[in-house]
Amino acid sequence: MDHFALVDGELHCEAVPLSRIAAEVGTPVYVYSTATLRRHARVFREGLKDAGGVHLAYAIKANPNIAVLNVLAREGYGADVVSGGEMARALAAGMAAKDIVFSGVGKTRAELSRGLQAGIGQFNIELEEEGAVLAQLATAQGITAQAVLRVNPDVDAGTHAKISTGKRENKFGVPIGEAAGIFARLSELSGINLRGVAVHIGSQLLDLAPLEAAYARVGELVAELRAAGHAISHVDLGGGLGVTYRAGDMPPTPADFGAMVARVTADWNVTLMFEPGRVIAGNAGVLLTEVIWVKPGVSNPYVIVDAAMNDLARPALYDAWHDFEAVRPSGKRMMANIAGPVCETGDTFARDREIDAVRSGDLAIFRTAGAYGATMASTYNSRPLVPEVLVDGDRYAVVADRIAAETILAAERVPDWL
Ligand SMILES: *Cc1c(COP(=O)(O)O)cnc(C)c1O
Repeated sequence: MDHFALVDGELHCEAVPLSRIAAEVGTPVYVYSTATLRRHARVFREGLKDAGGVHLAYAIKANPNIAVLNVLAREGYGADVVSGGEMARALAAGMAAKDIVFSGVGKTRAELSRGLQAGIGQFNIELEEEGAVLAQLATAQGITAQAVLRVNPDVDAGTHAKISTGKRENKFGVPIGEAAGIFARLSELSGINLRGVAVHIGSQLLDLAPLEAAYARVGELVAELRAAGHAISHVDLGGGLGVTYRAGDMPPTPADFGAMVARVTADWNVTLMFEPGRVIAGNAGVLLTEVIWVKPGVSNPYVIVDAAMNDLARPALYDAWHDFEAVRPSGKRMMANIAGPVCETGDTFARDREIDAVRSGDLAIFRTAGAYGATMASTYNSRPLVPEVLVDGDRYAVVADRIAAETILAAERVPDWL
């Protein structure tokens, strides 16, 4: 459920008409709903009510806007971060260092050091050497790093190849069959308390079966590690729950997910950790855009909008579907392709799709753009960096400025020898 709906024939975000935001902030612009973010945060937590002690670490990469992080921090969420930049954001948003999980397959030594200095709650180790380096760095600082070992369970998540992370040929985690040996060697080291394992098999999962298969393998590993004498207190089950992008998508509900987790982990006796991203932010945001032209095409016309692949990369990256709706639908429909102004054929949001009939100057939205939207934006084609707005009831605030092409140009230099 979200809070983007027609009121008197016009799409609103909560109580704010989208046309008002377009008039005052301009387009393209991302618009987020506070009520939807809060609702998703609560529904996800509620779904896990039978799963015992849980720690929720919002996967910041889905939507790292500082205002969004503030909303989630107030809902009691910590953060899952994958870079020093994300760590700085989580701390700036008021998330406690102890509630932050540091994930990522390429944490640099400098990032590990900074994480230790900041008092990060848990490091998710991706390879044996990283664990050894973390132990050394922590010892040098006179502290003990809390860590878990990320395992690769060799499970096909059944999602897009570019967001599948749990097959053995993927770059993530250590092969689950080698985990016990690595665990034994890293546990000998001072400076690191290896207290459990982590798994994350991919994103936009529409089926619980691969998650259940992965968790079952993790359960066997936990038993094996305990039999070998290791104290296992934490298991991080990652993120990955899918959301509805188009009619017919049937993602598992957080309640279904929680029931599966409670069943599979019933005798684990650990603190379970979760890293939800898309399921929290996806449907809490839209990309608001204006139609520039309706250009005749071979079969169907091209609706050329002022948003492009640099603002919303998912269709170009993953052939992703985003529903497109007029802000003031007339009731008429049309067949069209939808594309942006960027000089790439990949800058196409939809082909041969039935949509609300639109004309030059009309406003429209791409739905389900709250996750992996603004955060992947670039300034390709020297376009401005897209701004972000957060709505709360009948008020809104610009929570990220549009960064003008001139500002970006000002950061470039012509060397004096030219
Ligand atoms: C991306 C990622 C997540 C979040 O995935 P969603 O599909 O957005 O829930 C969680 N954990 C790790 C390690 C990730 O890389």
